[in-house]
Amino acid sequence: MPHIFSRRLKLFSLFGFDVWIDASWILLAGLISWTLAEMVFPSATPHLARATYWWMAIATTIGLMFSIVFHEMSHSLVARRYGLPIRGITLFIFGGVAEMEQEPSSPKAEFLMAVAGPVASFLLCAVLFALLRLVSVMSGPDAVKGTLWYLASLNGILALFNLVPAFPLDGGRMLRAALWHWRGDLTWATRIASDGGDLFGVVLIVLGIVSILSGDLVGGVWRILIGIFLRGAATASYQEILTRNAFDSLPVSRIMTKQPVAVSPDVLIASFIDDFIYRHHHRTFPVTSQGRLIGTVGTEQIATIDRTAWPLTSVAQIMVKTQADDVVTPDTDTLSALTQMRRIGRSRLWVVDQGQLVGVLSLHDILELLSATLALKQTRLG
Ligand SMILES: [Zn+2]
Repeated sequence: MPHIFSRRLKLFSLFGFDVWIDASWILLAGLISWTLAEMVFPSATPHLARATYWWMAIATTIGLMFSIVFHEMSHSLVARRYGLPIRGITLFIFGGVAEMEQEPSSPKAEFLMAVAGPVASFLLCAVLFALLRLVSVMSGPDAVKGTLWYLASLNGILALFNLVPAFPLDGGRMLRAALWHWRGDLTWATRIASDGGDLFGVVLIVLGIVSILSGDLVGGVWRILIGIFLRGAATASYQEILTRNAFDSLPVSRIMTKQPVAVSPDVLIASFIDDFIYRHHHRTFPVTSQGRLIGTVGTEQIATIDRTAWPLTSVAQIMVKTQADDVVTPDTDTLSALTQMRRIGRSRLWVVDQGQLVGVLSLHDILELLSATLALKQTRLG
């Protein structure tokens, strides 16, 4: 999920992962602290001072933050074990997210990565309950017991909520991994798991409406927001898989423009301008000699030559020699070609087969294909 967090601060680094906090989490932290200090703790552990409730609330909120980091860190460590790069962990208004750069390569990797989070939360829940037991046996203060009890319960709820088979929640990822393993079809598995995410989103929205009607406004609005977020995330994840699938099995030969107009190296600049640039309206042209690609020439190179020299200079004198990065083979998959374009910062690549120029692939062609693919698959979804 790149670039969804615009206003965030780096908190710290742990095991080589950067932990970020989104501005929305600060809002959430304030809301949680206030609810705990003014409503939850006064009724759960009565007869304490108001300041004590606030200290308990702040301790719980900070504890919750570390609980979420612990949960996400577990996902990230397993992901790294399977060679999946993690960009970092971000805490935002609906919890935490470990930002993956690519999808897991096997159902086993996906399952273990997904299950690590809830296991970590259950472990933390057990440790906190053990600590609570210890404090109770030693007749420790009620404030400490109240805080520990609440934090332990939150970790239990975090684990359970994430185990719901609703993609992209952990349970949904586990379901997807199981289905993927069963049939070997990642797209189908993602669709079923995303449908689970969509359905659970609807359930949360309905529960939210029921809560509001029965007087719990804050809880109700909260459930509705999480439901909407989950539905959006489920749809986005499915579309990302479709895009990826459309591209990583499609060779560039299927979408390239075949037999592009090429210039011979001995053509003079004056006729290159008249016969190629003015006629075909491209900014750059491949330079070929007996069909072999030897370079690229265009308006950028012409601009470096004085106008009076145009009738005397040949294309060979100003062309840029072909680099390995400018070229793909016809059987290169489109996803790799797109990655290559992004890396070199150019919007077209020459397609070359054993030295011979056979086509040109432009970013425009890929984007056209993308929108067509999404339109097709979406009609099937609806
Ligand atoms: Zn998780």
